[in-house]
Amino acid sequence: MKKILILGATGSIGRQTLEIIDANPLDFKLIGVSGFNNTSLLIEIIRKYELSIASVKDSIQAEKIKKINPNIKILIGEQGLIDFAGFNPEEDITLINALVGMVGLKPTLRAIGINRNVLLANKETLVVGGHLIKEALKKSSSNLYPIDSEHSAIWQLLNGENKSSVKRLIITASGGSFRDKARTELEDVSLESALNHPNWSMGSKITIDSATMINKGFEIIEAVYLFDLGIDKVEAILHQESLIHSFVEFEDGSITAQIAEHDMRLPIHYAMYYPERKESIANKLDFMKLNNLHFKKIDFNRYPCLSYAIEAYKIGGSMRTVLNAANEIAVRLFIEKKIKFLDIERIIKEEMERHQVITFPSLEEIYTIDSEIKTRIYNQY
Ligand code: NAD
Ligand code: MG
Repeated sequence: MKKILILGATGSIGRQTLEIIDANPLDFKLIGVSGFNNTSLLIEIIRKYELSIASVKDSIQAEKIKKINPNIKILIGEQGLIDFAGFNPEEDITLINALVGMVGLKPTLRAIGINRNVLLANKETLVVGGHLIKEALKKSSSNLYPIDSEHSAIWQLLNGENKSSVKRLIITASGGSFRDKARTELEDVSLESALNHPNWSMGSKITIDSATMINKGFEIIEAVYLFDLGIDKVEAILHQESLIHSFVEFEDGSITAQIAEHDMRLPIHYAMYYPERKESIANKLDFMKLNNLHFKKIDFNRYPCLSYAIEAYKIGGSMRTVLNAANEIAVRLFIEKKIKFLDIERIIKEEMERHQVITFPSLEEIYTIDSEIKTRIYNQY
């Protein structure tokens, strides 16, 4: 039986992870959860499972939880997330990081530091601190497994293959909620329409990230770190049905693909059971859906955020922090209806242009840049 800690249990990935645990009670034991902004769901989760530990936003939440479970260990705030990831370091526990945003970086490093396996949905961690994660993994016996449909696909496709024979990774993109709109039609799009993703039901931030396509840029960076390939070997292609999740092209001309219904419970399940394959609760594909698949080149002028992400990766160092921080805060402002959709890309571009790059930023420098950018931009609106 695998013992599990979930960071971000109240979110979209977190809740789907709980479904898998519920469906397989003999294989998984939930030890603890973190939650941030949905106290009633957090309390429901804490009531349902006999948890040893919970990490929460503040002392108000902590008090509420103490009332329903006086024996549970409660941690608070950002330091709480880090201590949560390092809970009972000598025990064999898997950490599932389903947080949104770069707040997940330090907890991931903490788990790797104590040789704990991490299943990572929290892609911002790799975008911002991929270089630190890689260094930490070299000194650790941890495994870092992806929870993202495209990366799960590549992981499966590379199983047993020699990486030197890979010519290209091709990750697919649905195109997001505005895929049928021209750029000129994006000026006044509403938050509600941005949150209406055609294929996936996800948290609000990643849904907006999909509409701007910065999500695909993040995923290209994520793939570079996870599979140790140059960024020029990773491409993205539009595929509106989201049934093929990635392709791998090999030197001999063979191209392999991973195909499944768009249901995140499959990549989560795969990572939780790896290296075994077991019956999953994910929706199964009706094969006949494959008779009408579409693929299209991505127009970088239509989706400038994709170019910014690739550029930030190539410039490297602290520019990746800038890319992410500007995006996180711009998306928040858009969700709070304080800026327009196209302001997101404008803010990212402006921040990248004004930044003086630090080539190998330390963890401290990353957090300082991140907070400076977020505070300054937020206060402008
Ligand atoms: P979500 O918004 O639904 O959930 C995020 C979780 O993190 C919640 O539990 C929330 O309480 C917590 N959280 C948010 N801000 C926090 C903070 N400052 N401190 C502590 N906790 C905080 O997000 P999601 O859609 O589940 O996405 C989680 C991660 O997985 C993201 O990095 C996303 O890009 C990635 N991902 C999601 C999907 C999906 O289908 N939802 C697919 C692939 C990858
Ligand atoms: Mg994805």
